[in-house]
This record gives sequence, C-alpha cells and structure tokens, in this order.
Amino acid sequence: ARHSDDAGVVVIGLGRFGYHLAGALARLDHEVLAIDRDPARVQRWSAELDRVVQADATEEVALRQLGVADFARVVVAIGASVEASVLTVLALTELGIPQIWARATSEKHAKILHSVGAHHVVFPEAETGERVAHLIVSRMLDFI
Ligand code: ATP
Repeated sequence: ARHSDDAGVVVIGLGRFGYHLAGALARLDHEVLAIDRDPARVQRWSAELDRVVQADATEEVALRQLGVADFARVVVAIGASVEASVLTVLALTELGIPQIWARATSEKHAKILHSVGAHHVVFPEAETGERVAHLIVSRMLDFI
C-alpha cells in the first residue's frame, strides 16, 4: 500500500456497505484505515483488512489520536444511525478533512450531511436499486 498522504482512505462503519467499500479500496491498492465502534465488528474484519481499529467516530479527539487528520479522504459508511453519521461528519469537518464522503439513507439525511460539511453524499440502496432496474430493463430488450 502507498503512503496515507496520497492513496489513503479512512472508512468509518463496517456494516455490509462499509466492509465491501473497504475491501474494494484495498484491492485497488489503497491504504485503508477502517474504524468501527463495535468490538465484535472490529474483531470480525481484522483478519481481512490491514488496519481495523475500535473507536467512536463521533469523538473528534479519538479520530485525532488515530491519525485521521493526516488523511485526505474519509468515507462515513454509517447508515442506520442518522445521529452517529451526522456527528461523525461534523467531527471530520472540525479536523479539516479535505474530502468527506458520507452515506445517506434519505434526502433529509443528505441535506443535513451537506450542511455539516460533507463534500460528497451517496445513497447505496437507492443507487443500487436504480441500477438493477436498468439492468433488468436492458436485459428485457434482448428478447424483443
Ligand atoms: P449496513 O447497511 O452497511 O450493513 P448496518 O445497518 O449493519 O449497515 P449501521 O447502523 O449502518 O449498520 O452501521 C454500520 C456500522 O457503523 C456498524 O458496524 C456500526 O457498529 C458502525 N457505527 C455506528 N456508529 C458508529 C460510531 N459512532 N463510530 C464508529 N462506528 C459506528
């Protein structure tokens, strides 16, 4: 893996989305620092990912101690808890992270994420649903 200054990415939240994202980045030869507050999740993925650490990402001090401020890109992959995702983006904004990516579960969630400083907001469930709909429709054309 390359140095954190150029190719490093922090992934916060190792649910299904965060875990697959972290794995894909690692396979693309990016250094990944993965963070989750649940010790069981950390334990589960520590054999598969290079650096997995346990911390509450809503705590700015904890993020600073982990060296998150040295990374140019951070992805907040927390989905279910709007509060945790918003507070985490806020902490990252305080750290001055240049590229904050965040996962939203609704349009209102996305608005809040933008307002607290997220630079990019993604909707994994909505985007995948749309993509699969297009795949189905394009496959149907094969039979006409
Ligand atoms: P997915 O849909 O990706 O499977 P999920 O529904 O299992 O996600 P979420 O609530 O979206 O779970 O959380 C994703 C991960 O984020 C979980 O592993 C959870 O422990 C972690 N997480 C939640 N809050 C925090 C936090 N404050 N700091 C760090 N990690 C957190």
